[in-house]
Amino acid sequence: MKILAILYNGYTAAEEEPRLLGTVENKLGIEEWITSKGHELIVSSSKEGPDSDFQKHIVDAEILITTPFHPGYLTRDIFEKAKNLKLCVTAGVGSDHIDLNAAVDHKVQVLEVSGSNVVSVAEHVIMSILLLVRNFVPAHEMIERGDWQVSDIARNAFDLEGKVVGTIGAGRIGYRVLQRLVPFDCKELLYYDYAALPEKAAADIKARRVADLKDFVSQCDVVTVNCPLHEGTRGLINDDLLKHFKKGSWLVNTARGAICDKDAVARALKSGQISGYAGDVWDVQPAPKDHTWRTVKNPLGGGNGMVPHYSGTTLDAQARYANGVRSIVDNYLSGKPQEPQNIIIGLGKYETKAYGQR
Ligand code: NAD
Repeated sequence: MKILAILYNGYTAAEEEPRLLGTVENKLGIEEWITSKGHELIVSSSKEGPDSDFQKHIVDAEILITTPFHPGYLTRDIFEKAKNLKLCVTAGVGSDHIDLNAAVDHKVQVLEVSGSNVVSVAEHVIMSILLLVRNFVPAHEMIERGDWQVSDIARNAFDLEGKVVGTIGAGRIGYRVLQRLVPFDCKELLYYDYAALPEKAAADIKARRVADLKDFVSQCDVVTVNCPLHEGTRGLINDDLLKHFKKGSWLVNTARGAICDKDAVARALKSGQISGYAGDVWDVQPAPKDHTWRTVKNPLGGGNGMVPHYSGTTLDAQARYANGVRSIVDNYLSGKPQEPQNIIIGLGKYETKAYGQR
């Protein structure tokens, strides 16, 4: 059986740090195990265009392993060519790089390692909220430049205490973000999600659900996006919705780049409608060098907390999702049932309720 894995290149870092498991060099730590079972493992980072390893090997691979950090985009066209494909495994969480409706039609199962990096992302969200609200990045840049002008930073630095923070999506990550905010004594913690939190879970952190999205964003000082990308969330944060944000609020998106309209967010930040935008996800990855989110700033020259997609790929997270991939592949090879929480697409149908209401 051919198993194809599309991962990112780790180069020297991966040679020096074997715990960088999600790299081409370290192959999720599964190479020996796969080959000892008599299967072939092809690992590559080459994923774009018809001459890529991805498109060359997908035609006869039975299992495809991809990672959201360097997504091999499995479009409907590519599904047509992937005649042997039975199982897609996402090394991490978030399988929007796979056309999930096409997976349903082609009866290809899609599994994620659910929960594997949700704490990693929640911690990153807390950091991003703080660095925006407290105006950290320009302050650090000032120090590196050799300057010292406290008022230029302090004029746009605030406390998180007393602010209203809301999450779009209150699943594993969104809930953990709210939980971690409790000791900050925010004025209120809000969530917007078509699935209500269990009563006790909401009560434990005093989270209030707001049913209408415009109403929700208009109440938040900080909005954090923690829902999957699907038909119902692509471009959800656009010019129209941004008008309803509180002027000068902050937006953190570690969910998926395409949930936000790139140019609308840039316009809102430049105009001061929002004071900051931070996150690690981009509408195409790797992000082009001239992507506006790399450099766009608020009118005071700050408010940009963008980094490459790494919040969910800390070394701790890599250990968990590498183990999870191995166990999903093992279940498949030995005909054992999969853990239900990992199944996004089962045979010919959505098993998860998180990728939109259908
Ligand atoms: P989850 O399935 O536990 O929770 C997702 C929640 O979003 C669910 O409660 C669902 O009902 C809700 N939702 C779906 N559509 C919605 C909509 N239109 N409006 C409001 N809520 C909606 O998933 P999770 O583990 O919390 O992960 C969420 C997403 O975060 C992933 O799908 C992925 O895209 C992203 N993620 C990013 C990284 C990273 O490294 N940046 C890592 C892991 C996950």
